[in-house]
Amino acid sequence: MALDAKEREIRDRLHATRETMIARVSEMVSIPSGHGHREGLERLQSMIATRLRALGAEIEMVPAEARPAWIDPRPASDARVATLVARRLKGRTGPRMLLCGHVDTVHDPAGPFQRLEPRADGAMVGPGVVDMKGGVEVLLSALEALEASGAQVAWTVVIVTDEESGSFGSARTIEQVARAHDRAFVVEPAAGEGDLVVERPGSGQFMLEATGWAAHAGRDFAKGVSAVQALATAVVAAGALADVTCGRIVNIGPLEGGAATNIVPDRARAWGNLRYRDEAEGAKLGAALDALATGGDDAVPRVRVQRLHNRPAKPCTDAVRAMAERAQAVAADLGFRVGLASTGGVSDANLIQYAGPPTLDGLGVRGGNLHRLDEYFWPDSLPERAALLAILLAREAKVA
Ligand SMILES: [Zn+2]
Repeated sequence: MALDAKEREIRDRLHATRETMIARVSEMVSIPSGHGHREGLERLQSMIATRLRALGAEIEMVPAEARPAWIDPRPASDARVATLVARRLKGRTGPRMLLCGHVDTVHDPAGPFQRLEPRADGAMVGPGVVDMKGGVEVLLSALEALEASGAQVAWTVVIVTDEESGSFGSARTIEQVARAHDRAFVVEPAAGEGDLVVERPGSGQFMLEATGWAAHAGRDFAKGVSAVQALATAVVAAGALADVTCGRIVNIGPLEGGAATNIVPDRARAWGNLRYRDEAEGAKLGAALDALATGGDDAVPRVRVQRLHNRPAKPCTDAVRAMAERAQAVAADLGFRVGLASTGGVSDANLIQYAGPPTLDGLGVRGGNLHRLDEYFWPDSLPERAALLAILLAREAKVA
């Protein structure tokens, strides 16, 4: 199959706006949005809302929910910036497409890494540029080109402000919106040299909390019950649940316990992360972790287990594979090749696909060094990926 006239028009329009796209990415990158930086997150949401409103979308700002208090070892930012939902559905028939991205980054808003700078080899370095402000630009430019082409695709955009910290505030909104859609597209960074991400593991957070009796270590050692000892036993048992050969990961840390070396500690806690291949495996692993709880309500020592699986596994289903193959055909028509990847990372694609629609991820820009101070992207991937996404959406609208 070759590109038809409308598709060529979309591609040419996007290639002609390459410099504008780079300028917009540069502007987004210079607005700090890490660590729950409210001002930056709100500014980005409002810039994006303006562009989507110009395409005829109805904008809804859905308030974020609170993070569970036990999730964070140290008091974390609970900026709770609203999730943006922009719907362009009215009067449009055919399958409903959901596009999802996030504007938060992992970078310190007060740190030294603040701007987009060229690198000698043509790449550009900047905080959150590949994960995923470049991807957000791909999403917006793709929709602008799609609308300009006159295609009547029914679409909704969801822009999240807390993806990097687990999407606890936006998960319910993401799932609710996802349920009303037929297919979904997420603009997380491309894998490898431009591969699409078809499969991700499930992931959950947990906390082990041990309670003992405090006592003076010298005068009353025998009266004390060490929470640290109880926690240590539970930590070793939790670690033993990992089995990398079948994708079962149990990572433990940080941990804390005790106030001073001459006091028997009465409280100790450890936090951890679980990853697993599929939901059956996740349920088994969760049950095994729960079984590490010991003692009744008032027993000393006792160990409590809290856990929350915030990223259900995202398998490569037949529907996902079929969509991915159609995307590969679009790339081939555009003159490049994209592979299909499975990664160990998780994203909002996990939540979306669990709620219903088959989801294709990794549609964002090409680049690397995510979450590092030398994070970079390839500017040529802006028009390239935007054309891929826009033409894919136009074709998907015709697939029953
Ligand atoms: Zn991301």
